[in-house]
Amino acid sequence: MAKFRKRPEILEATLWSKKGDHPDVIMHPEPTLLGKSCLHCGKPGKKHGLLKTEPQDQIVCPGDFIVTNMLGKKYPLKARVLEICYEKIED
Ligand SMILES: [Zn+2]
Repeated sequence: MAKFRKRPEILEATLWSKKGDHPDVIMHPEPTLLGKSCLHCGKPGKKHGLLKTEPQDQIVCPGDFIVTNMLGKKYPLKARVLEICYEKIED
């Protein structure tokens, strides 16, 4: 039986704060779904984005990072998680 060890995961990460920060994030078309303020970050719903991904779009809070993993999959990641679980290797 062959053995494998997982390679270090390298992510490309872009901070999203507002419209235009990442090409795949649009402003949330229905910010009222988030209520007056988001349950995750407490910021107003209208300040949120939507990352266009399959099979379903993902809500992006201002201050989240949009990451692309080695398989090309994109997803939002909280800044705190990125800070704790990853170290910066290149600017
Ligand atoms: Zn939020």
